[in-house]
Amino acid sequence: MYSPSGVRISTDFPIPETMQAWVLEDPDMLVFKTKPTPVPRKAEVLVQIDAVAICATDLEIIHYGSPALIQGGLPFNKNFTPGHEYMGTVVAQGPGVDEFPIGQRVTVEIHAGCGQCKRCREGMYTACLNYGLNYGERDKGHRANGFTTDGGFCEYQVNNINTLIAIPDTMSDEEATLVVTAGTAMYGLTELGGLIAGESVVVTGPGPIGLLGVAVAKALGAEPVILTGTRDNRLGIGRQLGADHVINVRNENVVEAVRRITGGAGADYVVECSGAPDAVSEAAHMLNRGGKICLAAFPHEPSLVDIPHIVRNNIYLFGIRGEGKSATHRAAAFMAQRRFDATKIHTHTFPLEDLPTAIRYAKDRVEDAIKVVVKPKRASIERTLAAE
Ligand SMILES: [Zn+2]
Ligand SMILES: [Zn+2]
Repeated sequence: MYSPSGVRISTDFPIPETMQAWVLEDPDMLVFKTKPTPVPRKAEVLVQIDAVAICATDLEIIHYGSPALIQGGLPFNKNFTPGHEYMGTVVAQGPGVDEFPIGQRVTVEIHAGCGQCKRCREGMYTACLNYGLNYGERDKGHRANGFTTDGGFCEYQVNNINTLIAIPDTMSDEEATLVVTAGTAMYGLTELGGLIAGESVVVTGPGPIGLLGVAVAKALGAEPVILTGTRDNRLGIGRQLGADHVINVRNENVVEAVRRITGGAGADYVVECSGAPDAVSEAAHMLNRGGKICLAAFPHEPSLVDIPHIVRNNIYLFGIRGEGKSATHRAAAFMAQRRFDATKIHTHTFPLEDLPTAIRYAKDRVEDAIKVVVKPKRASIERTLAAE
């Protein structure tokens, strides 16, 4: 039985010594294996994972390796488990932990900064200067589960208490996996200044972050919120999440359309979620003078950018990484208060052991998949029993 010294456990949640976990071997090669159940240290808990959403960044990591960074290099053949958008139940407390009781349902954010560098001290833990330094003699304790430490495509994972958010029982497992996505959108709007009530916001790209970006911007009072993209079904979901206008960039000139909608002035903010090669220049041309762009997507190639236009018009550019400044807590509050229905972007659920199928659905957008979730069998069964 699992009973590491200094770790508090409960008979209500018996924990096996080993668990099933997906491990990344070569590129695009995931293997379902048995691994030791991880042990929480100081300021950490063990989370029994109930659901994990697949993110476009997981697909990047599984194929290219980057942006994951394991022991200073690519994550292949290092017994690494990807997956970062998960939720579950606290089942063990590390030494000194009393912030979250055993049995508490939680969702997680990704990054636990080292807590000792300049950026962590400033609250910018997703830009921790000791990113990925959690091994060997230079172990600074940084964790970004699914990026620099083991993630959630498995049955149990350890999380720093700073990365946990308690969730109400009214929130389903699937919805709770979307909190970190909404949190990323919230962080982008935070970095733009956060004062967007009554201001015009364009969101480019109706992926999960873009769609929840629309929802969060609307919940924060932005007006109008304009969503751009190429797929009408996704733009339709954007409307349900609060977009006042949608623009299919295949049918009209997107810069002209934004200018028309904003009475010729241009928008106050653009949240760029498309990663398209000309997205930054287009965003700059959608803005009014002094406008701000948040870059939340990353293209594979460096982009050509209209810098003269940016300089002459005093346009600000912000790169964001992840879900910093406790934005996830604020997004979770909106979701708990039903300010928007994030479940509109959840389309499919598969058992954890069918992860390769789930990944194919997410990657190839089979049946118009947007957010695809996997759940360990136990979690699906428990949920069904609870519903009966
Ligand atoms: Zn993600
Ligand atoms: Zn740090």
